[in-house]
Amino acid sequence: MAKPTPRVLAVKNIIDITPNMRRITLGGGAFDGFPADQESGYIKLMFPQDEGRKPIMRTYTIVQQRDNEIDVDFVLHGLNHQGTEGLASHWAKTTAIGDGILIGGPGEKKLINHQADWFLLVGDMTALPAITVNLAQLPDDAIGYAVIEVLSEADIQSINKPQNIEIHWVINPTASDSHYPLLEQVEALIWLDGEAAVWTACEFNSMRALRQYFKHDRNVAKTHLYISSYWKLDNSEDEHKVIKRQDAESDV
Ligand SMILES: Cc1cc2nc3c(=O)[nH]c(=O)nc-3n(C[C@H](O)[C@H](O)[C@H](O)COP(=O)(O)OP(=O)(O)OC[C@H]3O[C@@H](n4cnc5c(N)ncnc54)[C@H](O)[C@@H]3O)c2cc1C
Repeated sequence: MAKPTPRVLAVKNIIDITPNMRRITLGGGAFDGFPADQESGYIKLMFPQDEGRKPIMRTYTIVQQRDNEIDVDFVLHGLNHQGTEGLASHWAKTTAIGDGILIGGPGEKKLINHQADWFLLVGDMTALPAITVNLAQLPDDAIGYAVIEVLSEADIQSINKPQNIEIHWVINPTASDSHYPLLEQVEALIWLDGEAAVWTACEFNSMRALRQYFKHDRNVAKTHLYISSYWKLDNSEDEHKVIKRQDAESDV
């Protein structure tokens, strides 16, 4: 399928759903022709650069879609160790209703494999939109867990989910490259009987620790394991993309 042409969408609404998560609704005239049913798919925010340079792109999840608009949830992350702020996070903090933003996509949806006995969804706040869509689409009688890391107690959201999917919230205000609270919580779960389907997205270092656990300690089948890093501590998305590619090539 040919890539959809980028379009300038208009900011239609802005609400803070929790202290560190801002929902921005994008729509407007250019939304016409946007493919239907793209919840959990991703879009690219495109920030134009000086002439001759490619736009800088940032990846975000469509958390809700209606006839003429989509909602995107932005983690309002702080400055990194060098004191610089992310382009997209800054945009989300400062944009106003009526502004335009160039959007590429939508790109492929990556949903948990439904052909399993039980389900485990794991992620930090950047994956919370995708986990929300995944939980909404699981069958009503699905069993398992969702383990979700948030920056503060106040960032816990109420999420629609099958009754027998148990949610474990992990509070972690600062990501680190040596301590992985998501992994600790996952290791503490009672591993259920039968075939598990696992879906995980989070910070790169944490992802690698979880991947080791799922592949080597729990032997989760390749067909039933989706695992991805959504960002990397102290790396912009452009830097993270390069490392992610190298990591995928070296992972066996
Ligand atoms: C498929 C996919 C879907 C995604 N969906 C979402 C989504 O729906 N919502 C969402 O918020 N993010 C989502 N992300 C993650 C998002 O693309 C990255 O966090 C991105 O780096 C943010 O861009 P930025 O311009 O704000 O920061 P960048 O310019 O990329 O980075 C600047 C600095 O900020 C740090 N940083 C980046 N993200 C975070 C963070 N979350 N917490 C703390 N520090 C950070 C970096 O390490 C770097 O030091 C998704 C990523 C992928 C691959």
